[in-house]
Amino acid sequence: MRSVDVADLAAGVRAGSRQHVARAITLLESTRPEHRDLAGELLADLADLTGRAVRVGVSGVPGAGKSTFINALGTRLVEQGHRVAVVAVDPSSRRTGGSILGDRTRMAELTASDAAFVRPSPSGRHLGGVARATRESMLVLEAAGHDVVVVETVGVGQNEIAVSEMVDTFLLLTLARAGDQLQGIKRGILELADVIAVNKADGDGAAAARVAARELSGAMRLMMPGPSARRPPVLTCSALTGDGLDEVWAAVLAHREHLESEGSLEVRRARQQQDWMWAMVDAHLTDVVRDSAAVREQRAELERAVRDGEVSAVDGAARILALFEDDVRARGTGEPG
Ligand code: GDP
Repeated sequence: MRSVDVADLAAGVRAGSRQHVARAITLLESTRPEHRDLAGELLADLADLTGRAVRVGVSGVPGAGKSTFINALGTRLVEQGHRVAVVAVDPSSRRTGGSILGDRTRMAELTASDAAFVRPSPSGRHLGGVARATRESMLVLEAAGHDVVVVETVGVGQNEIAVSEMVDTFLLLTLARAGDQLQGIKRGILELADVIAVNKADGDGAAAARVAARELSGAMRLMMPGPSARRPPVLTCSALTGDGLDEVWAAVLAHREHLESEGSLEVRRARQQQDWMWAMVDAHLTDVVRDSAAVREQRAELERAVRDGEVSAVDGAARILALFEDDVRARGTGEPG
């Protein structure tokens, strides 16, 4: 990366310059310590302009229709005068089905729009690092004037948790696949969902989608009994024909209004900030431990021994922490290297 002028970058982002936004996100995605410092300065500079967007997570298994859906919905929102940004959380190790989330070619129409900004998932091995970069990118995109930020992720559990921790409303896109729709969705993911949409409710699939939506609705009533529980609405839509997309968006906005009316949007975001602080501490500590000299030396061998069942995971973890602590003590400075 060329030398970075944070003031210039911040001014360009504030002015909504695409080029500056792209460069700012590249800076945020970097893990080099000097870039992290500059990223911190940039985010502090932009802080007054962040937090205003409708932040929506969109999740679903590969093939559920996420990119078709985001492309179609995003294009509608742009036509209504919104400025839409799409970012993604998809650690490279978890890429499934060969699709790259937030890939511009998968959202061609939206990508071509001046009012939209589509950014593929940063690459990285660790969900923590990928989530950090995406979350910070979201702030830059808000500062650049995007009033709708969509965070796309693929349905594997941990990714969804990370995304639900950075958005206001979590939308689960699912499919009617006769018989297995309930087994196919992990309970934990249903619990995260604020809105559920059964996609591909068109042509021959329309009836099956409606049945699946009814079954899911019933399942949610069992999972969250009681009159006061706020169960996520289960809708049907077709990203292909556009049927039901307005209703899904209305349900997203209704969820957000519900949060605002209760004052719980602020509470949710405040809790997210607190969790985020600890997530950053966790991620940093993990890096420090992994990269300390003593752990680095034995890491591969210990990982192998745990994989082969010679050492239990519990003993492996204890061994790593002991190595790290010895390392710190040996330095005698309290500053692990
Ligand atoms: P993703 O992997 O979740 O992003 O799914 P894609 O958006 O790439 O869609 C997977 C396939 O399903 C593509 O062939 C789409 O054209 C198709 N598809 C997406 N949405 C719909 C829909 O609403 N109806 C129908 N019939 N096909 C759809």
